[in-house]
Amino acid sequence: MPHVITQSCCNDGSCVFACPVNCIHPTPDEPGFAASEMLHIDPIACVDCGACVSACPVGAIAPDTRLDVGQLPFVEINASFYPERPADVKLPPTSKLAPVLPAVQLRPRRRPLTVAIVGSGPAAMYAADELLTQKGVRVNVFEKLPTPYGLVRAGVAPDHQNTKRVTQLFERVSRHRGFRFYLNVEIGRHLSHEELLAHHHAVLYAVGAPDDRRLDIDGMGLPGTATATELVAWINGHPDFAALPVDLGHERVVVIGNGNVALDVARVLTADPDELARTDIADHALAALRNSAVREVVVAARRGPAHSAFTLPELIGLTGTREVVLDGADHERVARDLATVSDRLTRNKLQALSGLGEASGTPAGAGRPRIRLAYELTPERVLGRERASGVEFSVTGTGEARRVEAGLVLTSIGYRGKPIRGLPFDESAALVPNEDGRVIDPDSGRPVPGAYVAGWIKRGPTGFIGTNKSCSLQTVAALVADFNSGALTDPAAKPGALDTLVRGRRPDAVDSAGWRAIDAAEVARGAGEGRPRNKFTDTADMLAAAGAQPAPLRRRLLARLGNR
Ligand code: NAP
Repeated sequence: MPHVITQSCCNDGSCVFACPVNCIHPTPDEPGFAASEMLHIDPIACVDCGACVSACPVGAIAPDTRLDVGQLPFVEINASFYPERPADVKLPPTSKLAPVLPAVQLRPRRRPLTVAIVGSGPAAMYAADELLTQKGVRVNVFEKLPTPYGLVRAGVAPDHQNTKRVTQLFERVSRHRGFRFYLNVEIGRHLSHEELLAHHHAVLYAVGAPDDRRLDIDGMGLPGTATATELVAWINGHPDFAALPVDLGHERVVVIGNGNVALDVARVLTADPDELARTDIADHALAALRNSAVREVVVAARRGPAHSAFTLPELIGLTGTREVVLDGADHERVARDLATVSDRLTRNKLQALSGLGEASGTPAGAGRPRIRLAYELTPERVLGRERASGVEFSVTGTGEARRVEAGLVLTSIGYRGKPIRGLPFDESAALVPNEDGRVIDPDSGRPVPGAYVAGWIKRGPTGFIGTNKSCSLQTVAALVADFNSGALTDPAAKPGALDTLVRGRRPDAVDSAGWRAIDAAEVARGAGEGRPRNKFTDTADMLAAAGAQPAPLRRRLLARLGNR
């Protein structure tokens, strides 16, 4: 009864270090780790202790007897990572060195290490987690929204509730006594980088890649066009996208690009609304999906099947729960690629594609809408005058025109980092130039004192939630080494002055107690409806819920009055 890693694997490697027999690979110190789409349990070496199950923050691991039908392909995917061999032959041991953070050195007359983290998504929270393993360290997390956790809250699709379970880990981190939230505070607007540095030894930016890559073709911007990430933010109730005009009154949606975000969108647009009603999807999105006229979502890639950007676990999750089809020409492309491609992962994807049904000319009539994966279509222009009516593609390599009618055209061609005021920026790579997380001034080639980056703004918009764990650890190791070597100066401002500064600039700042009040109110709103939460989608409602909890200053005053 070996254990099996399934679709929601986040790659954070916690299972690797929990496993007593080193049977989970690739480990973070093995060469294939960075490119791996998931981790795999060796069924021969697994001793079924379940330590990995407890360590996994996203509930991705189960014994093979407890898998549901849709998860069964993962038995073979886990096993096929390892060479075929008799059941009594163990593989030679490999290293799985748990990376160790250098100890923060406490020196007389020096202030304890105090770090500002900007952003509150996975990279920020993993960095806080690493820093707080050290005695005496203080971490202040600044976030421009009144709610934390970045893309886990606003980017992970609502039907991936397992993935959202990583917030339980982040909640534990945020309850550490050295940790403080300053939510609803925007760095660069309410406080500057220099002001943060005056109150901290270092500022670590984990702000992600907040912009979408834009497709520069005629017609983008017409009503009926949007980016997939905008749509995902709308589905997830992000307050800045709650009013996005989304018209689902047409039969077909075209998504340009075929990464995991494109699959997320296709999956949600074809989901059974009654199933979504048991998730934390925003009410406005659920209402629109209940009235949707969409019968087909076409996911169009400019390259062939062997270059599909989606991952195998997500493809399996999709094909197990939706009608996914290819047209005849694309089936031929899959067969063509299968005849030439040798790498195991790509072959597994192609095998999964080759088993899909064939698209008939018209979208399915009754039942749930279908998804059509389409290949070698280069987008040329969005059709329509007043609003989008479709996309004109050219067949990649031949130039032959292909028109696909659609009432909604979404681009899903990746994210883009944006400049941070006061720091250098590499426009072509759209990230902050850095070495191991230390921000580097491109003119001098030297580190910018006290400035660090982690996550997508450091390495670009690739990887999974857990990829940020090792990324953030690398940055924190550099930061601690700089503190220990004396390269970081003690903050000029007195401890305690930060609160006064923040309250002066941003009276509506939300602290940990305020966030917990928002959280509790959302969970209570959802409880009656059988949902994990019903999110607020308006900042004013969030602040009202946060205000139901007395702010620290008010709490202290109330306590003092109560003592009289
Ligand atoms: P992505 O994986 O980088 O995919 C981008 C897609 O856009 C590719 O198909 C790419 O095609 C296409 N593209 C780029 N420029 C184009 C152009 N000018 N015209 C047409 N197509 C173009 O991006 P993503 O889907 O936004 O995902 C970002 C990261 O988040 C990925 O690492 C992804 O795995 C991760 N993510 C993971 C999950 C999950 O684990 N469930 C969910 C969401 C996101 P080419 O390959 O031809 O360039």
